[in-house]
Formats: sequence, C-alpha cells, structure tokens
Amino acid sequence: MNKVYLLLGSNAGNREVLLQEAANQIADNCGKIVVESSTYQTAAWGMENQEAFLNKVLQINTQLQAEILLKNLQTIENNLGRQREVLWGPRTLDIDILFFNHEVISLPDLKVPHPFLQKRRFTLVPMAEIAPAMVHPVLHKTIAELLEECTDTLEVAKWP
Ligand code: AMP
Repeated sequence: MNKVYLLLGSNAGNREVLLQEAANQIADNCGKIVVESSTYQTAAWGMENQEAFLNKVLQINTQLQAEILLKNLQTIENNLGRQREVLWGPRTLDIDILFFNHEVISLPDLKVPHPFLQKRRFTLVPMAEIAPAMVHPVLHKTIAELLEECTDTLEVAKWP
C-alpha cells in the first residue's frame, strides 16, 4: 500500500463543490482518503489578477503505482472540466502529487516530491496541519521546518 499526499486546488467555478467532487472521485478511483486538511484560501500564485484559490491536502492510501495514479488524477481533472489555456491562469481543478511514500521520482512527466512544495505556503500550510513532522526525502527537513523557512508572502487563511 502506498501512502500519498495530494494537493487539490481550484480557482474557477464553484470551488468548494469542485474540491469535494474531486475528493469523491479520488476515493472512488484511487484509494481511501485517510486524512484531510482544512480548506484554505490563497491569492492566486504567479498571476494575481484572478480569483483566489481554495486548496486542501489529502493523504490517501493507494495500491496504484505513481504513474498510474497520475493518469487517474489527470482523468479526474479532465472530468471536472479543467481549462489549461494559460500557464498559471484560472483552472477549475488542479491535483498535484506532493509525496509518494518517501520515494524520489524523476520522470519526464512526474517529479516527486513536488518540486515547488517548499516554495509555496499554500502547500506547506495544509501539509503542516496534517503532517508537520514528515521529513522531506531530498531536503531532509520536516514540513514544519520548511514552512518556518519559506519566504513566500502570500496569505493562506482557513476558509470559510
Ligand atoms: P500543472 O499545470 O502545474 O498541474 O502541471 C501539470 C503537469 O505537471 C503534468 O503534465 C504532469 O505530468 C506534470 N507533473 C510533474 N510532476 C507532477 C506531480 N508531482 N504531480 C502532478 N503533476 C506533475
């Protein structure tokens, strides 16, 4: 069984419903949701003249291999009508694999741990809520330490 952390994000459409629907589809198609963080709101990262994101982290247990999991998650993104015309532009639903066990994966279409995890408060804050003591397998620091050191200034607030 693989222990996986996923980041869900939405900044278009009915964001709350989309996050819930994504969680339902993940439970149906990928594996059991073991822990779920609170939902947080963050100003859009990279491009700030768009609606704020809602984000949450799920810890799931899955039998799927990492690449198959990624394919399933991309199908869920597509089912929920993701628009991807603009880099870092609005998207109805984005799902990232943050951690896959303690593995380091470097494939053309899959980098784990997620390469931007330590740079983004919207990832670290929900991770720190559910797994503060988890050690990053490349940086060898805990999530709590990475959050402490993170220089990202975007506010991440519990939502609603
Ligand atoms: P994004 O637009 O940020 O969701 O990026 C999607 C692309 O990132 C897809 O083509 C994935 O193959 C690739 N990718 C690389 N590593 C990951 C990861 N850890 N989780 C999700 N997508 C990833």
